[in-house]
Amino acid sequence: AIMAASLQIPAVVGLADISTRIRTGDFIIVDGKSGTVFVNPDGILIDKYKTLSENFTKTQKRLALTRHMPCRTLDGKDIELSANIEFPEEVSKVLESGARGVGLYRSEFQYLLKNELPGEDELFEEYMAVAKALVPLPVIIRTLDIGGDKPPRCISFPEEENPFLGLRAIRYSLQHQDMFRTQIRAILRANVHGNVRIMFPMISSIEEVRLAKAILNEEIEKLVSRNVKFKHPIDIGVMIEVPAAAVVADLIAREVDFLSIGTNDLIQYTTAVDRGNERISTLYKRLPLPVLRLIRSIVMHGHREGVWVGMCGEMAGDPLATLILLGMELDELSVTPRAVPMVKSIIRAVSFKEAQRICEKALQLESSEQIEAYIQGIMEKRFPSIL
Ligand code: PEP
Ligand code: MG
Repeated sequence: AIMAASLQIPAVVGLADISTRIRTGDFIIVDGKSGTVFVNPDGILIDKYKTLSENFTKTQKRLALTRHMPCRTLDGKDIELSANIEFPEEVSKVLESGARGVGLYRSEFQYLLKNELPGEDELFEEYMAVAKALVPLPVIIRTLDIGGDKPPRCISFPEEENPFLGLRAIRYSLQHQDMFRTQIRAILRANVHGNVRIMFPMISSIEEVRLAKAILNEEIEKLVSRNVKFKHPIDIGVMIEVPAAAVVADLIAREVDFLSIGTNDLIQYTTAVDRGNERISTLYKRLPLPVLRLIRSIVMHGHREGVWVGMCGEMAGDPLATLILLGMELDELSVTPRAVPMVKSIIRAVSFKEAQRICEKALQLESSEQIEAYIQGIMEKRFPSIL
């Protein structure tokens, strides 16, 4: 779903037997917004969707007009708006979108699509291409997040009963240090212009952060002794996407330069709802109250420890969440490039004070449904074309 969004392909998942019900040549409408597929619809429905599609395009064009303007509220509060990418080729989309850099470069796709482990030079060239195209804007490269629902072809991966709770992301990297060190060197070498930052995924304890940092420092020393030219120290961040890390975000913040909240996993791990299981997808909420409380506390703790706090999970690009996240004082939102103009236009149309009031009120409600309904009401009045 994330790849489809980044390639701007409308997609609907979890339709079970749809492939047995559609034949080549059928006329279908794919409504990625509501998650509906219509097979051979009648003329009335086709006309309705033609109008919807035209309106969508018009709105996108209108939102795009202000995409290169500052991401600033009416009362002058700035928030960094950056983009998530999966492939180096997406850099042009990032620049066009008006994003101020890359807040999450998911590096695993270079591994997932290959039959052999990529080498240091190959990785370096891909990272360097992105870093160079965006300089002086920052590029946050996340180290490998494999396992879970992303077992790579080039690595023989153990069968696990609970892969999302298993050997995933930083856990895999710390157990396979040769591979981890290779990737770290490639990231460091790409920091020629000083705009690269490194981020570790799925951190669940302070020990993991310290170990990853120790490895990083060893690799910096090795490159220095080889006379390789690159900028260091490099800014180090961690993803806060496991409740255990969220609860001790203050301690983790002392070890790093920034925190980035991964809501896709933070929601699944906090509410115990598998993010890929369509049978329980109604339990996977857009604005879950427990997670909103956690986010507020992560931001507060990060700020107290003097580090900036961003968000790179899908919630960052959800128009229903924008006012709440703004009110919580997140420093950065990283969203799919297509969502940049939309999020920016919401932020530019409100004051920070108003967002704070809305956020405060939303967090006093008792359920995720109530929060969604409350925000939906505000958005329908203020931004009807966006919803
Ligand atoms: C997240 O969990 O929110 C996230 C950004 O990482 P991924 O979706 O790649 O797991
Ligand atoms: Mg994640």
